[in-house]
Amino acid sequence: MVKRIVLASPRGYCAGVARAVDTVEEALAVWGPPIYVRKQIVHNVHVVRDLECRGAIFVDTEEDVPLGARVVFSAHGVAPTVHEHAQARGLQTIDAVCPLVAKVHAEARHYAERDYSIIFIGHAGHEEVEGTTGEAPDAILLVESVEDAERVAPPQTERLAYLTQTTLSLDETDEIVEVLRARFPGIESPKREDICYATTNRQRAVKAMLGEIDLLLVIGSANSSNSNRLVDVARSRGVAAYLIDDESEIEDGWLANVESVGITAGASAPEVLVRRVVSWFRKRGVGELHTRTAVSEDVSFRLPAELQRQAAVS
Ligand code: SF4
Repeated sequence: MVKRIVLASPRGYCAGVARAVDTVEEALAVWGPPIYVRKQIVHNVHVVRDLECRGAIFVDTEEDVPLGARVVFSAHGVAPTVHEHAQARGLQTIDAVCPLVAKVHAEARHYAERDYSIIFIGHAGHEEVEGTTGEAPDAILLVESVEDAERVAPPQTERLAYLTQTTLSLDETDEIVEVLRARFPGIESPKREDICYATTNRQRAVKAMLGEIDLLLVIGSANSSNSNRLVDVARSRGVAAYLIDDESEIEDGWLANVESVGITAGASAPEVLVRRVVSWFRKRGVGELHTRTAVSEDVSFRLPAELQRQAAVS
């Protein structure tokens, strides 16, 4: 029988997601609907549905946006070819790429311009990986696992660097980097690591509370990389963990023999979903609620330049 809830802190929205969602909301307020959005603005079904109700139209590619219309690019970033296609169609673009993803794009360009081979640690098919790889498609080799790192064969090793997706598991990435450093002792990396502060902090917060919980519920959507990594962090340390979009997905079987339930939320999950899950447990008689703060956060990003310019003239 569940007796207590332990909330992880920090959890939920990061500065990049908050900025991306604000960007679509501001664009709707300034120009009115429809505002097209290429891909999910952030990887959360609730956020996407809510914005759809307010007049955002989500499309898979820039080719699906009517000629000359206004389109927002998602927080995950896009490849330069997407900007070229959008320009060719006369689209009015607003780029909501997270500044921390944009930093990795700049690093990829920096190394590629100097004829480096780049090993990019990330997950194939993720939009962030597609965007970053698109900055230097001929120079980048994707590595997804320790096994990949053991096999990867760059065309040359004198000028070699590695970069990482922003939302990976710290533990798994450390293992991969260890293998790369052992195989290629001269491999370079940016001075500041690419796994972002929000990913790092949410994983730290989960690790800090694992000793006092029997089960971890991670609120986030199935395509959210950082949310999946929070599940991995708990499971790799022997604590059962499940990813849920909301309280309707909680299964009674998970709660058998569970006294303490930990709750966290991925960087793209709004706090309202946390409140809904907490109230689901409250209605079932769970009385104790504790918050465990591993680190405090105070990060925010300004809206994209296109919206700042609009604000300045209106
Ligand atoms: Fe930016 Fe990190 Fe949030 Fe991704 S998870 S949008 S990199 S702050």
